[in-house]
Amino acid sequence: MDCLFCSIIKGEIPSTKVYEDESVYAFKDINPMAPVHVLIIPKVHLSSINDVTVENSAVIAHIYEVAAKLAKELGIDESGYRVVSNCGADAGQTVFHLHFHLLGGKKLNVEMC
Ligand code: 5GP
Ligand code: ZN
Repeated sequence: MDCLFCSIIKGEIPSTKVYEDESVYAFKDINPMAPVHVLIIPKVHLSSINDVTVENSAVIAHIYEVAAKLAKELGIDESGYRVVSNCGADAGQTVFHLHFHLLGGKKLNVEMC
């Protein structure tokens, strides 16, 4: 299977790593929309939130733990931040390996849709 983010996890495509453990990888977005824009992804290939089940959902809770830890490390835990996952065409998902955008470091647009 050809997947951009699986290739990034394997190191076949370079990325600026921010965090890694046995189940999660986090790296800087190539086209940052905010001063802090990190992508947090599960190492297991899930295409989107649509693939989350009771069998694999533990990694999602872990991703939120990592988001909180990185927000603190990157100095945006007090100022505020957003964690977003786009699912499917209407949400504008462009990479079909589940990922969570961690965005902060400026006053974010308040519009949710
Ligand atoms: P989506 O639109 O699917 O929610 O988000 C995909 C994100 O992946 C975009 O913010 C885009 O800038 C980022 N992205 C796409 N290709 C690459 C890449 O090769 N490297 C990195 N670091 N980010 C990428
Ligand atoms: Zn993948």
